[in-house]
Amino acid sequence: MGSGVEAFRAEVAGASAHVTVGTPLARLTTLRVGGPAAAVVTVDDEAALQRTVVAAHTHGLPLLVVGRGSNLLVGDDGWPGVVLRLGEGFRGLRLDGTTVRAGAAEPMPSVAVTTARAGLGGFAWGAAVPGSMGGGVRMNAGAHGADMADTLVTATVLDVRTGELTDWGPDRLALGYRTSALDAAHVVTAVTLTLTPADAGEVLAEIDRIRTWRRTHQPLERPSCGSVFTNPPGTSAGALIEEAGLKGQRIGGAEVSTRHANFIVTDTDARAADVAALIDHVVRTVAERTGTVLRPEVVRPDVADPTR
Ligand SMILES: Cc1cc2nc3c(=O)[nH]c(=O)nc-3n(C[C@H](O)[C@H](O)[C@H](O)COP(=O)(O)OP(=O)(O)OC[C@H]3O[C@@H](n4cnc5c(N)ncnc54)[C@H](O)[C@@H]3O)c2cc1C
Repeated sequence: MGSGVEAFRAEVAGASAHVTVGTPLARLTTLRVGGPAAAVVTVDDEAALQRTVVAAHTHGLPLLVVGRGSNLLVGDDGWPGVVLRLGEGFRGLRLDGTTVRAGAAEPMPSVAVTTARAGLGGFAWGAAVPGSMGGGVRMNAGAHGADMADTLVTATVLDVRTGELTDWGPDRLALGYRTSALDAAHVVTAVTLTLTPADAGEVLAEIDRIRTWRRTHQPLERPSCGSVFTNPPGTSAGALIEEAGLKGQRIGGAEVSTRHANFIVTDTDARAADVAALIDHVVRTVAERTGTVLRPEVVRPDVADPTR
């Protein structure tokens, strides 16, 4: 693997592609756990992106796209291949009337605030989600009664198997509750939304309310991946975890938050294995005590799983 990585690096590194070897993924994820990546490549334009995915394939290095790492649990062994990140060249926002074109690396809160200031409503909820626009589409992120599907017009998607860059509409994306038709072979490079004219002051006030609610109800001062489980129909995962008596439950450096039972927070000495074991313990205990089997929302990338 080592020589494969060196050959890969020699082929890819350049002005628009920055490559590091052995970077701990704990640095790139909000849970702050996860071992080293064989290579982390940050690309700044489409040519570098294409070069990187072709070279990863040529050298047999599995690809993992990482946005802002806010919904990822990577193992302590790290990632044996290429972690692909979209850099500054994929940031930014263009407004044209009510149409918003955002780079996939643009943070969702920044899109929320910029569009609010421009007098556009419909994306204030994005201020609550610390992900990138690309990760937001892949997960169909949502909050406060709205989600990506509500305003999305197209996502520009690179299929790494074919090298094709095409616009996907809502039908093809098939956005569901924290799901989409995107898999490990897809890289979202840009997203187009249609928002609605609104009073800038009112949308900014809505963002303030959302942020205050979050600070009060969620342990934002500690590392986490947000909600660990999706809500089962008709109830909330947090309520079931609380009912099962698991608030404050610990394994190693991972803890079920005492403020919000659907959050797992980590200490500085936490390992990914602690988080994984706590997730398994929560699933088992909630199933035993309430009869409901919780479905993890957090993504656990696995080289053997092509849909990771
Ligand atoms: C404090 C906190 C609060 C949160 N609150 C919410 C919430 O209210 N609602 C909600 O839905 N989520 C929430 N989340 C979870 C997370 O922010 C979302 O799932 C977000 O959409 C993930 O985006 P990301 O860029 O961080 O993706 P990552 O975590 O980096 O990746 C997640 C998945 O998306 C893929 N991916 C990332 N970027 C791309 C891309 N450009 N193209 C293709 N695939 C890509 C990855 O391969 C992976 O499969 C919260 C997280 C935290 C830490």
